[in-house]
Amino acid sequence: MMKIHCIQTGDVQIKRRHQLARFRARPARALDVIVDAHWSPRLPIGCWLIEHPEGLIVVDTGESSNANDPGYQPWWHPFMQFCERRRVEPEEEVGPSLRAMGFDPKDVRWVVMTHMHGDHAGGIGHFPNSTILLSKLEADAALARTGPLTGYLNMHYPKWLRPTEIAFTDGPWESFNRSKTLTEDGRVHIVPTPGHTEGHMSLVVELEGHCVLIAGDASYSEMDMLQGNVDGVAFSASVHHDTTKRMRELCCRRPTITQFAHDPNSADRLSELRFTRIA
Ligand SMILES: [Zn+2]
Repeated sequence: MMKIHCIQTGDVQIKRRHQLARFRARPARALDVIVDAHWSPRLPIGCWLIEHPEGLIVVDTGESSNANDPGYQPWWHPFMQFCERRRVEPEEEVGPSLRAMGFDPKDVRWVVMTHMHGDHAGGIGHFPNSTILLSKLEADAALARTGPLTGYLNMHYPKWLRPTEIAFTDGPWESFNRSKTLTEDGRVHIVPTPGHTEGHMSLVVELEGHCVLIAGDASYSEMDMLQGNVDGVAFSASVHHDTTKRMRELCCRRPTITQFAHDPNSADRLSELRFTRIA
């Protein structure tokens, strides 16, 4: 019997034009975010725990409570310095959160990273014993010397980090053209969901009678997925559109509960078994 928990590691405010872009071209979207004077409401920073018979699976690791300390964000990066407000207490980090739920982070078998932006990778240091799974594209971008330019705070990644790269070698799965099945029972699939970052990936869990799509920042909310909205920092608007279309198609084919890291309703949809309705 599998159980999925949505965990909140503090919250973040981003610019309105980061939450929802007005333009298609990436430079125009990024500039629009930097000059935007309006902030989003406080949004959760989500991650997930899956109790699976073959081992505990964590998807994303949330933010670090040090993220707002002076010097944590690169001083030369106006976006990281001035365009996000993070609030994370030490006890809200993923490690203490798991312990409060009765789990030991050292028992986690797999950590599946949708992508490596700071508010998803900030808690990775809690999992030194786990296999950290990343797409090859994401690993290349995140670990590159130029990573901090595009939101990958790789100076804070733990020294021991040696991610295992996922190649999507198991063929199409439902609406996704490539996939990798993680577990021997064939119920946990990793699929590419590029757009927010080039190497972004998501996890789909098949439960009795429905699927749970854990999609990180592939969209910022279920409404954004339904409307095909692109965020202000996305790698590519057209690739983002293709991914949201595939996610909607999954929701058409199978009863599906969607989970996004910054969607205030993710936890309620999960606990109330609310499937996504496609009009
Ligand atoms: Zn992100």
